[in-house]
Amino acid sequence: MTFILALDFGGTKLAAALSNAGSREWLGYKRCLSPANTNASTDFKIMRSLIKSLLQDRKPAAIGVSFGGPVNATTGTVRLSHHVCGWENIPLQHLLEQEYSVPASIDNDANVAAFGEWRYGAGNGHNSLFYITVSTGVGGGWILNAKPWRGEEGMAGEIGHMVVDPAGPICLCGKRGCVERLASGPYLAQDAREELQGCRGEKIRNLVGGNLELITGKVVSEAAAQGDQLARELLERSAWALGVGIGNVANLINPQRFVLGGSVTKAGERWWQVIRETARKTALPEVNFEIVSAALGDDAPLWGAVALAEDLLQR
Ligand code: ADP
Ligand code: ZN
Repeated sequence: MTFILALDFGGTKLAAALSNAGSREWLGYKRCLSPANTNASTDFKIMRSLIKSLLQDRKPAAIGVSFGGPVNATTGTVRLSHHVCGWENIPLQHLLEQEYSVPASIDNDANVAAFGEWRYGAGNGHNSLFYITVSTGVGGGWILNAKPWRGEEGMAGEIGHMVVDPAGPICLCGKRGCVERLASGPYLAQDAREELQGCRGEKIRNLVGGNLELITGKVVSEAAAQGDQLARELLERSAWALGVGIGNVANLINPQRFVLGGSVTKAGERWWQVIRETARKTALPEVNFEIVSAALGDDAPLWGAVALAEDLLQR
């Protein structure tokens, strides 16, 4: 067997999985949440122990890594994490190669998930795709001519901070009306909290027993499914924002497919319908594309990491 080790350093969770090169099944899978107020060295320590219990006495032939933050994939260096402190300029690829004495390859999670979906999931057989994760944040990864297109500094595909409403609310990046500000789960929840006045949003309030701190994107979509008008409006605005972003990307780069992953994509049929309609209206009539759900679900970054590692073995 040729063992491939796939690692996922997420903003809130860590995962390690083992596969046999060429196989599409996990031989082992370990996952855990990061502790609150974690930092880079704590996360790395936890990852080491996940790897140890996963590998036991087996040795991988290559390691692929998905990292939740900007990465310089050419040098294998993490630039930083927006969620976990201490990752500034960490040469993660080099550290892993030294520690495990095998080649490693690392990239940003949206790029890696895009690669995973392209090679093994909803993008298989297509030459170009744009992958979007709609979760705690909104990230994008772009496959062009069957290769990840990272841009000059690894920052291509940042659809989350495309402005769709210049007069909209302020995003964490400082700009107004970004796709992420309108469409991510936590911002959906924040907007619901702020809008809960008078008799609107009764079902949202009931779902959290009156404790507005407990509102999440999921709660908003549950309330919408129960017919809550405020929840429906918020979800439709979220879908509208993403649809405008997708339509603009379609005009700019004309990919065959848009693949959408992340938990907010479970928001229901209406959410998908508004995205498709809005994207269609935003793009030129001559620009054709499909918008489909990710096939690999939560495992897209890990399978992308496998693809990165398998490519190392082909060299
Ligand atoms: P991560 O950002 O760690 O990758 P997820 O992809 O699970 O995690 O995204 C988490 C976000 O998705 C949370 O804000 C959560 O409220 C939201 N979410 C989860 N399920 C749903 C749902 N059914 N509808 C809308 N939002 C959801
Ligand atoms: Zn922004």
